[in-house]
Amino acid sequence: MRALRFHGAGDLRLDEVAPPRPARGEVIVAVDACGVCGSDLHFLDGSAHTGFVPITLGHEIAGTITDPGTSDLAQGNRVVVAVGHPCGACDRCSTGRSNLCTSIEVVGIHRDGGLADLVAVPAASAIALPPGIAPEIGATAVDAGATAFHAITRRARVSRGDSVLIIGAGGLGGYGLQFARNAGATPVIVADSDPAALTRAARFGVDETLLVEEGMSLGRAVKLLTHGGVDAAIEFVGRASTVEAAVKSLRPGGRAVVVGVGIEPVATLPPVLWSNNEYTLTGSYGSLAGDVETVLSALGTGDITPPQIETVPLEVARSEILAATSGARRTSGRMVVVP
Ligand SMILES: [Zn+2]
Ligand SMILES: [Zn+2]
Repeated sequence: MRALRFHGAGDLRLDEVAPPRPARGEVIVAVDACGVCGSDLHFLDGSAHTGFVPITLGHEIAGTITDPGTSDLAQGNRVVVAVGHPCGACDRCSTGRSNLCTSIEVVGIHRDGGLADLVAVPAASAIALPPGIAPEIGATAVDAGATAFHAITRRARVSRGDSVLIIGAGGLGGYGLQFARNAGATPVIVADSDPAALTRAARFGVDETLLVEEGMSLGRAVKLLTHGGVDAAIEFVGRASTVEAAVKSLRPGGRAVVVGVGIEPVATLPPVLWSNNEYTLTGSYGSLAGDVETVLSALGTGDITPPQIETVPLEVARSEILAATSGARRTSGRMVVVP
């Protein structure tokens, strides 16, 4: 079968490999769609690492069960695949923070992922895809959707009346701004350096969009726009400049949440401004059990509009993903690979 494998920074190959067999507790999924995430681009640009190489990338998987192994799933079941498989036994797992499991196994990072014809996954990671939701859309729910849901609701604790800044209008930001809006946040402001991404975000019902241009202070722009800053700023980009902008956009008592993945060290504010303003800067990682189902249900009822999808056939995905990594190509929405 075909598998798009990461061999090291800048090195992505469409390899011919043996089809997977289900190990104990695993099922085999024929991939119908697999989203490409910002973190996949970070592996390719060398700023993040996988557990081993070569590895098949892809952690936003929707597909059809072809071999249910010993699980109660059946051949032909339509599923999406939870990104992380927590151990269920460690201290983090037993205190309700399974996303921080010390031995979490993430598909496409610690085991072969879904940019392939077939993928083996733990049966416990397979979540039923409700009828009426296309695999391309369902695929984005497991990471872009569920990660944004956890960040907005638990880490940023967005609630009615909060002013919210979303930095990065990609797949996660597109979901995040809708969760903020649905929680009653007002205004919801979205900032991005890509005008087309802001245009797409605008159709989700944001109150303000801010185009980030070279040399501009996003923090100052947000403070001017909101007469003093926002209650919560959620950063979905993973750059030092955007984390700094999130902090500098806050009103006293505000919360900045970093979701983006990157390696640039961040300089923020002098200590006096942290203490006098009781700012919070925190991170958000992945999601918890049940979050994917919540996102799928919101997609099913129409409470959340799915992000714009750009489907790419597996045979040309290599060059498209490499072009996105180098910045030579901007996607018009979430890139989803269809084998
Ligand atoms: Zn991801
Ligand atoms: Zn654990």
